[in-house]
Amino acid sequence: MTEAGRSEAKPCIATRQDGQPCRSFALPGSAYCYTHDPARAAERIEARRRGGQHTSKAHRFRALLPPRLVPVFERLEQAMESVEQGSISPSQAQALAALARAMVAVLESSELAERLKEIETMLEGRDGRA
Ligand SMILES: [Zn+2]
Repeated sequence: MTEAGRSEAKPCIATRQDGQPCRSFALPGSAYCYTHDPARAAERIEARRRGGQHTSKAHRFRALLPPRLVPVFERLEQAMESVEQGSISPSQAQALAALARAMVAVLESSELAERLKEIETMLEGRDGRA
């Protein structure tokens, strides 16, 4: 009955499809791991669907990214894997995603501002010539 240091490491109570007990750890506040938690079934299907699309396009997509966004993208990729493995909770991942969206919004608006400036400079030059 020594629970010291193992309070978070409760095993999942589910049985796998092959009849063996699940060896993953239960999520905090649940008797099940991420894979077996009935409350997360819909979430899981959605994550798998997005994950599939994600991996098939990941390389092409990464090549299109502005270099400044590559680390953000990689962090999100890691977070997705961590959620699937159950090492971070979906709500933690959602918090990460919200922060990433905020970062991207800032980068995008600064990029837009730069472009706008270029266009304005271009137009001023044209006006001067006319
Ligand atoms: Zn399980």
